[in-house]
Amino acid sequence: MTCPADGRAFFLLDLMALFHLVDFQTPYEYLGHQHPQKALHMCGIIGYIGQKNCVPIILEGLRRLEYRGYDSAGIALVSKDSLSVEKKAGKVSELAKHLGNGSSTLSGSLGMGHTRWATHGAPNDVNAHPDWDAQKKIAIIHNGIIENYLSIKTKLLREGHVFHTDTDTEVLAHLIQSMYERGNDLSTAVRLALSEVDGTYGLVVMSVHEPDKFIVARKGSPLLIGVGDGENYVASDASAIVSHTRHVVYLEDGEVAVVTKDNIETTTIDALKVHKTVEEVTLELSQIERGGYDHFMLKEINEQPETIRNAMRGRLLVDEGNVKLGGLQNMMGRLLSARRIVITACGTSWHAGLVGEYMLEQIAKIPTEVEYASEFRYRNPLMNIDDVVLLISQSGETADTLAALREAKGKGSTVLGIVNVVGSTIARESDGGVYIHAGPEIGVASTKAFTSQLTVLALITLMLARARGMSQEDGIVLAKEIASLPDKVQHILKNTDQIKAIAEKYKNAKNFLYLGRGANFPVALEGALKLKEISYIHAEGYPAAEMKHGPIALIDENMPVVVIVPRDGIYDKVISNIQEVKARKGRIIAIANEDDTEIANMAEHVIRIPRTYGFFGPILNIIPLQLLSYYMAVARGTNVDQPRNLAKSVTVE
Ligand code: GLU
Repeated sequence: MTCPADGRAFFLLDLMALFHLVDFQTPYEYLGHQHPQKALHMCGIIGYIGQKNCVPIILEGLRRLEYRGYDSAGIALVSKDSLSVEKKAGKVSELAKHLGNGSSTLSGSLGMGHTRWATHGAPNDVNAHPDWDAQKKIAIIHNGIIENYLSIKTKLLREGHVFHTDTDTEVLAHLIQSMYERGNDLSTAVRLALSEVDGTYGLVVMSVHEPDKFIVARKGSPLLIGVGDGENYVASDASAIVSHTRHVVYLEDGEVAVVTKDNIETTTIDALKVHKTVEEVTLELSQIERGGYDHFMLKEINEQPETIRNAMRGRLLVDEGNVKLGGLQNMMGRLLSARRIVITACGTSWHAGLVGEYMLEQIAKIPTEVEYASEFRYRNPLMNIDDVVLLISQSGETADTLAALREAKGKGSTVLGIVNVVGSTIARESDGGVYIHAGPEIGVASTKAFTSQLTVLALITLMLARARGMSQEDGIVLAKEIASLPDKVQHILKNTDQIKAIAEKYKNAKNFLYLGRGANFPVALEGALKLKEISYIHAEGYPAAEMKHGPIALIDENMPVVVIVPRDGIYDKVISNIQEVKARKGRIIAIANEDDTEIANMAEHVIRIPRTYGFFGPILNIIPLQLLSYYMAVARGTNVDQPRNLAKSVTVE
């Protein structure tokens, strides 16, 4: 396996010292065609079978898939004698350069390409797809995550298989090989292999053994077949192929298809025939890229049921009331003996950290502090050898957070990361950590990364709480609650009309106030930040009770005040704060529970949220605030995905 730069295995999975694998994945929900369909989607797939030379078609397709963010790219061609594979870390242009920029001798009429967004193994040349089996006769490209890759890998290792990458995908190539060697044809081998797999995939397989076909399959990650005349295409989304054909067959979850140049045969994994129809893609390219949504931000907001699910996939053990986080396994001793946890981060990640503080202190009973990374690094903080510093960063490259990491490390503290981008600097330089698996986040204003960070913090909290004596019974209650969050988020996302109408009403407001208490105070901060970032309306988040010490002076009939007021232990206190606002004619927009019958008498607008356990509430309560800022920005005509003055990954001090 590839070790991080400093030779330390990062985010070591339950990997045993055998291989150092990174713990994770990243799918996201995708509305790939006119009939919205839910699916996880990591990175890009394109394949061609026909008469033409496929190399330029594949490179063009990969370029079209670039919009989604990725870390490496590769191409494979099959003929009856050989399998050729070329792959490169970095941009598609690196791969094209490597292939001689058009002067390549690589040529053939059956081939496939992939843009990878690493989940298992660092983003480098070796781990890029296509992967292949031990004989280098079967090639595979894969979007998604093979959740049980480790147990399959262990079994195959015992049978003598040798692996050359750290990916979960390579394990599948070897599994298909072992099924093929038992006398099955390629499609049967793929189906048998898939029947042993847990997780998500959109995948394409081709082989020297049967060099006239692709086998494609889908579960939780989109896959479609582009239908041509004497030629066919496969792709993860139509953007890769619409310049060639707009006729497509969409695979559904659990389907496998054998694609030759003039035929497509679809079955279930159990080999039952499925009748498919050819549909026409009418969306424009830019619409396809955004999954049918108007902006990446809206797409990412809508992906949250899926991304939250991904953050807990394979980690949350509901029946045991516990959590398994491979990347922290070796760190448990240090976490349990920690005198305190110091969370440091910037922006939205800092808000996630503030919620984490409530979770860790109140549920796991570990003293926790949160500090801006930019302040931490220059404050010369008093750190102890038994302090654990937890860094949160979507990109894993945030300059201030990285500097804080180095500062803490220099002082002898254990440093752990909560990061989205696999193999990023913070991930590499940490002693351990957890990937959030939110998939590439393209919108500059962070949305799905935030809820995934919170989910991971909830998992860490539950794991530590159990290790510190929480009963299994209580653990099960919390685990069930965490598991129920994606469906609750889905439910909240249905409520866009009301939020749109509120945005329309207040779109000309000059200021907004966001109030919350307890773990919902950081939600108020995050709601205000979202509004500032993309609508350019001045907004402040405040602890509800603190309002009377200053901001109350701002309240008049023009001031919209968003109050997060779930039915929890401090409900009555927040109601008093609402009354204070009302007395000054402020306009109350309440985020309240579905069964709250009192709130409607006090608030001008009530956005309803399902109930959950208090400290997990922020994962739900932030959703309407994300939507509100989104629709405000749209109503004001700002550039939602690339707001002025902001960068997605802040790599300057
Ligand atoms: N899990 C696979 C890997 O890490 C696929 C990631 C992707 O979807 O790009 O290689």
